[in-house]
Amino acid sequence: MEQVKILIDLQEVMSQARRLDEEKQKIPLEVADLKSLFEEREASFLAVEQEFETLKQQRREKEREIEEERDKVERAKAKLMSIKTNKEYYAMLKEIEGTRRTNVAREEELLSLLVRYEEVEKGLAERKADLDEVSGRYRERRIDIDARMGTFDDNIGKLAARRRQVANRLDPSLVRRFEMIFERRDGLAVVAARDYSCMGCHMNIAPQLFNLLQREDRIHTCPNCNRVVYYEATMIEAGGE
Ligand SMILES: [Zn+2]
Repeated sequence: MEQVKILIDLQEVMSQARRLDEEKQKIPLEVADLKSLFEEREASFLAVEQEFETLKQQRREKEREIEEERDKVERAKAKLMSIKTNKEYYAMLKEIEGTRRTNVAREEELLSLLVRYEEVEKGLAERKADLDEVSGRYRERRIDIDARMGTFDDNIGKLAARRRQVANRLDPSLVRRFEMIFERRDGLAVVAARDYSCMGCHMNIAPQLFNLLQREDRIHTCPNCNRVVYYEATMIEAGGE
């Protein structure tokens, strides 16, 4: 029974590690809703920010154009003084007027651009406030969650050390076989056999094998589910006969 007792210990340690790991996997789910809300608001902020940057650039561009045209008008006016013929003079005046008119149209464009600019600027500030509100909460939860994940990692690490310690007391090939059964049989690799049946799969165990279980200190497995089985007396057997 010595080896079986060690296997039972090993199973216990492995089950604990498995439970901890499962609980750890669930932690990020607690914050999943908040995470997607954060991502949503971040995306919405970035989209408006992008639009704002584009408008800013368009505004600068428009202002520069208007400035250039104004300079052009000023230069043309200065040139008027040195013009000799009437024909040239009127041609120049016409050109100046044309430039001025184009600039009036540009100024109109700039005005509507500025209206949009201010709207988007305001919208951006609102999105920023929304984002800040969620990102503050999200950050706090992340700190809490990271701390809890860290605690889980510590405990899982301790169990892994304990598992190595227990496993070292057994033959490595037995440990490997045991681990394989543990994985395949959903964390239950060593079970009692009572009243001629396996407590893992509840199938009957032949009397020959059952008798061996009672007598020998060898590892036996259930012919049906392959779990390691050990004899356990029932109340009736212990008190009866
Ligand atoms: Zn079985």
